This record gives sequence, C-alpha cells and structure tokens, in this order.
Amino acid sequence: MFMASNLQQTVALLREAGTGFAPSVLASSLGVEDMVLLDLIARENIPVGVFTLDTGRLPQETYDLLQLARARYRIPVAIYAPENGDVENYTAAHGPNGFYESVALRQECCGFRKVKPLKRALAGKRSWVTGLRRAQSAGRAEVPFKEWDAANNLHKFSPLAEWSDQDVWDYIRDHDVPVNALHAKGYPSIGCAPCSRAIAPGEDIRAGRWWWENPEFSECGLHPHAKAAS
Ligand code: SF4
Repeated sequence: MFMASNLQQTVALLREAGTGFAPSVLASSLGVEDMVLLDLIARENIPVGVFTLDTGRLPQETYDLLQLARARYRIPVAIYAPENGDVENYTAAHGPNGFYESVALRQECCGFRKVKPLKRALAGKRSWVTGLRRAQSAGRAEVPFKEWDAANNLHKFSPLAEWSDQDVWDYIRDHDVPVNALHAKGYPSIGCAPCSRAIAPGEDIRAGRWWWENPEFSECGLHPHAKAAS
C-alpha cells in the first residue's frame, strides 16, 4: 500500500500552483513521475492544465501511452510540436540524425524540438509543474518544491521533489496508473527514441540519455538548473 507521508504535501503544492498561481500547466513527458501527477490532478480535480511535447522522434510506446492516457483520464493533453520549417532546415543541413555529431548539434535539435515548443506552451501561464525529483540524479539533488523560473518568467513547482523511486512505483502500482511499456525493458528515463536507451542494473537512472556525451552536457534546456535534465 502506498504510504508516502508527503502525499498530502504533494497535493497541497499542486493546489497552490493551480489556484494560487493560475493559469498553471503540467509539463508532462509521460514519464512515471508525470503519470503520478496526471493521476493526482484528475483524482483530486485540481485546476492544472496538461501538455506534452511531441518532438516528432518519440518512441511508439510513448505515443501508445499518450493515447491510453487520453482515454483513461478524459483530461485534454495539449500537444506541442516543433515548427515544420525548423525541422526541415535542420534535417536539410545536418541530416535526420545530425544530433549525434556534436554537442552543439544535439543542443540545437533539443532547442527547436523541445525548448522552443516549451516556450509556446508556457506563454501566458503564471506557473508550471514538473515531475523533477531529487533522487533522480546528482544533478537534481537540490530541486526545490517551488522556485521562480527566471528563464521562463513564471513560478515552477516540483511537487514530487522529495519522492523516492519506491514512492513513485508504489503509487503507480496502488492506483493502477498506466506507464510507458519501455520501463519494463530497462528504460528508467524516456525521451526521444534515438537519444534514450536501456541501462544496466546499478547505473545512474540518467545514464540512458545522451550516453555518447560527457555527462556535464546532458542538458536539453528544459530545466537549465538541473545538470542532467529531460
Ligand atoms: S533528445 Fe535527441 S532527437 Fe530529441 S530533440 Fe534532443 S537531440 Fe533531438
């Protein structure tokens, strides 16, 4: 049975974002943390909108989960995509997999496929909610519950900051929350298909992202203060 002592605090933070700093949105990557938050928003009827970024390079399993979540929760999940011109210009100049060639080209790809659509999704909002947790990696060890996000000019809430891996998976199990099928295949963190892989037992859970780069560059720009962010 799920026993997280901080569940009430998590719900209170979601309510604070949704009512005290409205309009508020959950930026969902459809990872397990974001599925917990979506479930809580639906279960507690909290006025926080939900969106996801469709980079155009997501695994089929992620699209399957998005379809399932739409049916299960009946909450509109807004989908933000990169601009066609950006995709066409990049692929013409660097090819569809140019992001493997350098950190700069990888960051450029994340820039137009993720960061730019994120800015559109956050425009006009007073707060956003993320599934960041301190236990996810050393780079996230100091994630606060709430902070002023100067880069995006709004308040940022991370209500699961203190949740352990066990807390998350206990909640998923106890509430029968749907999750990405890739988790059962060794993927703890799932982003775009070409930039995510399964990890070995004992590896850092972020080791499956941009594994060909020095970890200090493992940043896509969505969470600039985290050293390794989704
Ligand atoms: S994770 Fe990979 S494919 Fe996705 S936007 Fe970043 S570089 Fe491009």
